[in-house]
Amino acid sequence: MMFKRMVLWWLIAWTLLGLGLWVGKAIYDNGLQQQALNRHQHLIKAARTMLHEHLMVSVQDTQQLSAVAFELGYLDNPTEQNQEMLKRVFLDSAAIYGRYDQIRILDLNGHERIRVNNSNAGAEAVPELRLQSKRDRYYVQQGLKLSPGQVYLSPLDLNKERGELEVPFKPTLRLVRMMKSATGEPAGLLVLNLKAAGMLNQFIELFPEGDRAMLLNADGYWMVNHEPDNEWGWMREQPELTVANWEPALWQQLQQSRSGSLHLEQNLFTFHWLDIANIYESTSVARYINDLGLVSDVQASQWAILVESDQQRWQSVAIYHRPWFKGVLAGCFALVLLVVYLIVRNREQAREKAVLQREQLDNFRDLYENAPIGYITLTQDGRITNVNRRTLEYLGYRREELIDHMHLAELMEVHSLEQAQAMLASMMEGEERYQRIRINAKNGDTLVMSCSVSSRLSDERTLELGRFSMQNVSQQVYMEQQLKELALKDPLTGVANRRWFDEQAEREMTRAHRTGSPLTLMVMDIDYFKKINDTHGHDAGDEVLKALAEHCQSIIRRADLLARFGGEEFVLLLPDTSLTQGIHKAESIRHALASFRVMGANETEIRFTVSLGVAAVSSRHADIKTLFKAADDALYQAKQAGRNRVCAAALGHEHDRLER
Ligand code: GH3
Ligand code: MG
Ligand code: MG
Repeated sequence: MMFKRMVLWWLIAWTLLGLGLWVGKAIYDNGLQQQALNRHQHLIKAARTMLHEHLMVSVQDTQQLSAVAFELGYLDNPTEQNQEMLKRVFLDSAAIYGRYDQIRILDLNGHERIRVNNSNAGAEAVPELRLQSKRDRYYVQQGLKLSPGQVYLSPLDLNKERGELEVPFKPTLRLVRMMKSATGEPAGLLVLNLKAAGMLNQFIELFPEGDRAMLLNADGYWMVNHEPDNEWGWMREQPELTVANWEPALWQQLQQSRSGSLHLEQNLFTFHWLDIANIYESTSVARYINDLGLVSDVQASQWAILVESDQQRWQSVAIYHRPWFKGVLAGCFALVLLVVYLIVRNREQAREKAVLQREQLDNFRDLYENAPIGYITLTQDGRITNVNRRTLEYLGYRREELIDHMHLAELMEVHSLEQAQAMLASMMEGEERYQRIRINAKNGDTLVMSCSVSSRLSDERTLELGRFSMQNVSQQVYMEQQLKELALKDPLTGVANRRWFDEQAEREMTRAHRTGSPLTLMVMDIDYFKKINDTHGHDAGDEVLKALAEHCQSIIRRADLLARFGGEEFVLLLPDTSLTQGIHKAESIRHALASFRVMGANETEIRFTVSLGVAAVSSRHADIKTLFKAADDALYQAKQAGRNRVCAAALGHEHDRLER
């Protein structure tokens, strides 16, 4: 279960971490891409400036050589001497500049008049016999349309010799200037063939490794490509070698705007169109220069610089390719593993602990609620704050009637109030105390409870909580009383038995001796009781015994004690009674009983008499035994004398016996 949860959390945490990393990487990559784009822009700007500067220098050269030819007066006066001088200037210029492989002068019919070739072997003037007519060449056609002073810039293409492409390819730009005569009339063309390879190589070298530089013409053919096989498609009669074929989406973009960027699959492209003839656009020296009279075919002078970088290239510097970063990343995943493990384990432990605590609490509550004795929880002043089920059963209250509504003292029976207060006082002191207390139930019953108090004290020894428990012992108390009665009472007549009598008599005897007050003992026996039993039956005999006991009980004082000694023999102990008073009492009893009628079976009346022996405490009768013996002796006398009479053992006088 815990493992399942842990795996779930791991998945969630890792997913979040992965998502975060993914978003982070995307933002980071975007930054890298932006860096690459910025670099592209920078390179393009540098390349554009470089191209323009090349062109500017060439136009300046053209103007300069044209000025030399004019100043030599060759056009107005083409003497052999002038021609030789100009040829030498051209030869020197070709050697010094190095970048022109032909410097020529053509007349207005398109015939070459002077031609200097500059090959690897060096500059040489072409002999007059080998000079040709170039009238049908497009650059001558364009040149003848110029006004004096203007320079025509041809498209960049490959040099052709006698209709064939010169191999190795020789990228060439032609600059054609219309020269003027002294009167300002068109007088001939100056043509310079610029070897563009140097410029194009410099262009390629501008771009660092990894960034691929391309130069396009207006039709989307490559003039520079990192794959030379793709270059010069229109001249090599391979019309498929265009950007439009290679990356149509890119070409579409190129046609739509002058500059921009495009991210295609793994590659990033940046492009910029420039007008190569607009040499003032970006060169830093342009502002110092007057109009150089450059014209060109607007379409042909549109070039595009295109830079391409692949993703791997600009991401190669990314931090996430570094070994230490991968290590940190692995560490993060491991950390998540550990943190999730710790969190889940902690939560699990806390949960288990809470369950355990709840179980314990439930158990304690159950113990409190269902304890076999009544529990009451109290505040300092004895107000009830909690009770359990047994308390409610005992007292018959509803829970809400007790809790926060009653004080413990209100439950006490009036006579137990003092004890209850004492218990509460003990509770306040933190002492335990046990006590039997009488408590009133709601229905008015009084219950005898075995109660205890205890308490919980704070560190300052003030009461935090008082506990009061109680157990109903009413039944037990009742049983105890019953037992006591059984042990001390005669079951037939309900008067005291011999044991009770012995206890009481001993105490009265002691008291009599201490106080000197008189004490009289009477022994009484029914006459011929056997005969009553025989005549009327045993039950009738019992009735007689009960009637006798009842009568005696009714006439004696509270302090007197009547006991049955067994059979039909009774004893009466009379404190504070002298012998004489005792004899009177005995007589009155004998009289009364003699007139008694007890109903026997079949409506027969039973009559009976008793004989009594009386003795009182004297020095001779120091203990109860001798006193009893004296009384019993007196009874014997009474029986002997014929029954139904009272005999007394006189105090201190051995022979003092009264008879009646
Ligand atoms: P006396 O005048 O000499 O006292 O003669 P008596 O018959 O009364 O004396 P005795 O001691 O010979 O007889 C006592 C009789 O009392 C014997 C017994 O059957 C009877 N008795 C003893 N206890 C009980 C009792 O609890 N109930 C009844 N009904 N009779 C009892
Ligand atoms: Mg008897
Ligand atoms: Mg008798």
